[in-house]
Amino acid sequence: QEDALKKVVAHAKEYGFVFPSSELYDGLSAIYDYGQNGVELKNNLKQYWWKAMVQLNDNITGIDSAIFMHPTIWKASGHVDAFNDPLIDNKDSKKRFRADVLVEDFAEKFEEKAKKEIEKAKKRFGEDFDQEQFESTHPKVLEYRKQKQEILDRLAKTLETDLSKTKELIEELGIGDPETGSKNWTEVRQFNLMFGTKLGSTADTATDLYLRPETAQGIFVNYLNVQKTGRKKLPFGIAQIGKAFRNEIVARQFIFRMREFEQMEMQFFVAPGSELSFFEEWKNKRLNWHLALGLGKENYRFHDHEKLAHYANAATDIEFQFPFGFKELEGIHSRTDFDLSAHEKFSGKKIQYFDPELNKNYVPYVVETSVGLDRLFLAVLSNSYNEESLEDGTSRTVLALPPAIAPTKLAIFPLVKKDGLPEYAQKIFNDLKYDYNVMYEDKDAIGKRYRRQDAIGTPYCITVDHDTLKDNTVTIRDRDTMTQERVSVDSLRELIDPKVNM
Ligand code: ATP
Repeated sequence: QEDALKKVVAHAKEYGFVFPSSELYDGLSAIYDYGQNGVELKNNLKQYWWKAMVQLNDNITGIDSAIFMHPTIWKASGHVDAFNDPLIDNKDSKKRFRADVLVEDFAEKFEEKAKKEIEKAKKRFGEDFDQEQFESTHPKVLEYRKQKQEILDRLAKTLETDLSKTKELIEELGIGDPETGSKNWTEVRQFNLMFGTKLGSTADTATDLYLRPETAQGIFVNYLNVQKTGRKKLPFGIAQIGKAFRNEIVARQFIFRMREFEQMEMQFFVAPGSELSFFEEWKNKRLNWHLALGLGKENYRFHDHEKLAHYANAATDIEFQFPFGFKELEGIHSRTDFDLSAHEKFSGKKIQYFDPELNKNYVPYVVETSVGLDRLFLAVLSNSYNEESLEDGTSRTVLALPPAIAPTKLAIFPLVKKDGLPEYAQKIFNDLKYDYNVMYEDKDAIGKRYRRQDAIGTPYCITVDHDTLKDNTVTIRDRDTMTQERVSVDSLRELIDPKVNM
């Protein structure tokens, strides 16, 4: 599993998708830059989301609000008081950990033990093995899973009631620093994840600000502006794509958990009482959107929250099978009127909707969908990465990206760099570049050029050869099947269009 992620990280760097940020200066932890191919893939993912949310829903509009916001907004939203993670330090190694993650990783060891038992039995029984039956009856498996659950339950309780109890739990379980083994822990304390900064130039007038930890609040504080100027009737939604910043304690797993990342969020405003049916509707709509990317149904699952955040009356995650297991990709929350009511209270201004059908005023309820763009990028990249052994004994690395989001749609090659072939190929390039992101390449042998395009996920390659000059046909090669077909130059657009358009 670790190896699978390492390969994706290395590939992302080698082919210009993702670079460690400030690499020249040895990098900044959990911050990344997107390279020449990464930015194209990321832009395509944004467009794919924007199209589905804003363009195809006539009751959803977009905005782009500022990253800097009035500091009282984060008081109202609860982030100043409650956007914390439990932090613990190891006194010997001076390393810092998220206390809950430390315990969760420990609990996960019991799950691994259970999995080992299952694997052993699978080997022993071969074809006759009934895994479901085994998992639900085998005493060792049951015991390991019981122990895991007990630890997680106790953790949840201590986090809710008393953080000093979390320290006691860590000590009682005998958990040590994963690297050094040292069990010399400090007290657990709350660590606020927001980054602070200052607005203004003189020391006495400067105001403390935060970099926004979510884009959602930019939508809430613009609810009235959009509703009034857009003359919107409930239910309607506001969508936004933008950067968010969190000073994460555990920064690992590549672009899965970053300190600067991008969110694609939509807040859907509805009448009180109707929120749970809209919540169900958006759960299904969002899952179907993910499935349409074609990464495989088996790689998604819902994880309904039993413990709800202070603002929610229903919440679920869409989890994706990353190289390190099923993890949250998107959150869908029924946020009640928590945010708008809080902004009414803190700003002193009315945020009410007059419902002409019910003939009364109320604060709208909200259903939110929130997906991390970088996590989506990692989902697509890790799922598309394949190492294939070919029939002729060689191998290739291919990114089987959904064609609609591939950075380059088409690469155009002259077979040789003479006899007028480059000029002909350039002509095709110039003709198609207005419609697609196309690439022209004439260096190296044709086989090598194909491999390079496979590695960045280009769905089609076109080769111009000497016959092209006679009959205006070219070969078009398919990334996935590697088959080549002879087609007329005039038919290229018709052939490619239905496959690469969103
Ligand atoms: P997690 O539990 O994994 O920390 P979260 O529940 O705090 O995530 P939300 O606040 O619901 O996340 O944010 C919505 C989405 O934003 C998440 O589903 C995820 O895709 C993305 N996201 C959140 N934190 C990060 C991060 N540090 N790096 C990248 N993406 C993130």
